[in-house]
Amino acid sequence: MKETKVVKFGGSSLADANQFRKVADIILADPTRRFVVASAPGKRLVEDIKVTDMLYNCYELASEGEKFEEQFNLIKERYNGIIEGLGIQDFSLDEDFDIIKGAFSHMAGRDYAASRGEFLNSKVLAKFLGFDFIDAAKYIFFNERGEFDWNKTSEKLAPKLAKSEYAVIPGFYGSMPNGTIKTFSRGGSDVTGSIVARAVDAMIYENWTDVSGFLICDPRIVNNPSPINTITYAELRELAYMGATVLHEDAIFPVRAAGIPVNIKNTNCPQDRGTMIVSETAEPCEHIITGIAGKKGMSVINIEKDKMNSEVGFGRNVLRALEKSNVSFEHMPSGVDTMSVVIQTDALAGKETAILDEIRSRVHPDQLFIESNLALIAVVGRGMKSARGTAAILFTALAEARVNIKMIDQGSSELNIIIGVAEEDFEVALRAIYNAFIKVKK
Ligand code: ASP
Repeated sequence: MKETKVVKFGGSSLADANQFRKVADIILADPTRRFVVASAPGKRLVEDIKVTDMLYNCYELASEGEKFEEQFNLIKERYNGIIEGLGIQDFSLDEDFDIIKGAFSHMAGRDYAASRGEFLNSKVLAKFLGFDFIDAAKYIFFNERGEFDWNKTSEKLAPKLAKSEYAVIPGFYGSMPNGTIKTFSRGGSDVTGSIVARAVDAMIYENWTDVSGFLICDPRIVNNPSPINTITYAELRELAYMGATVLHEDAIFPVRAAGIPVNIKNTNCPQDRGTMIVSETAEPCEHIITGIAGKKGMSVINIEKDKMNSEVGFGRNVLRALEKSNVSFEHMPSGVDTMSVVIQTDALAGKETAILDEIRSRVHPDQLFIESNLALIAVVGRGMKSARGTAAILFTALAEARVNIKMIDQGSSELNIIIGVAEEDFEVALRAIYNAFIKVKK
């Protein structure tokens, strides 16, 4: 169905009647926008509570045997406010509310409770648009281990969608083999959208949210950064790993497997082009780099030993010491006689002595110490492969900003350079890198 678009709208796009109208205008403006995946109502204002969180809270009260009527009524009010605000006639969710309330009292499960946010919102949206409502519980499946089951899902979902001209499908959940409801992790409606796009082999998966796509750098650190027009899945993985979040991490896989592009769009500014996420692109990059992201809260275990390079099994022994404490590592740059293992500080907490003792007894290092308060910064871009002098620009920018580089790691794909700096230098370093690269056109 190459002429079909799958569109997913996030919680802020469906938070109230006014937002619903914007969504309907977007969908109805293009007849190829046939399959709509909806989130639960999100925040209308900063201090608001998302319906998903209200449902979790309410279910917690129910499961502790406490009264939850009052909380439940607040949830009802959110939906009734939308229905009234849209002026939808001959439609009510009262029966559903009763069923859900009963299920809460009978301990239907936390996932069931959370999933009702998208279930109810999708019913309202389907009614408002005049589209079919397709319950994800009957067409999206997990296996016994709780992993998403593509084979079973595509077997049931693809023929169902083929029979429908226009439909709304709730995001975020599916069913376990025993029929109980299971949700994806938070933000999981993005994943449902990607699955639906793959099931219908969509031309594009439009993911509508409240920002006009990705920005080159975090706007809380760099003032008014430029948007990213096109990014590859591989680049996005690198940036997402460093904490740049707009799209759920797992949403990439289904569409990537089918080569379907994702367009991140803004419901509040539909005219903005947003960011296109693609497998490969012939589009020249505007800058050498596509994005910069980073995260604080890292520690490094520094190991030094003369002739380390000729000691067979040295690296394995170091890593086994980590394995023994059940700690995973992020990066491992090494020199001739030195090795550094970068680990998230949280993961290391309380295990430092055990790990150092284990390393000592396994490899007898000359020097062994932990440095904390490290921040990592990833400079990511497919343009780096063909551009000379990327590292020179990067290191000059940092030297001029008087930032000391504690670690360097260039990925073998030449897609990224990761550097480690002191946490206190993090913001200064990001700004310096942004200015250096964005001023330099490729
Ligand atoms: N409503 C769910 C959440 O708040 C899922 C989603 O919106 O994607 O996480």
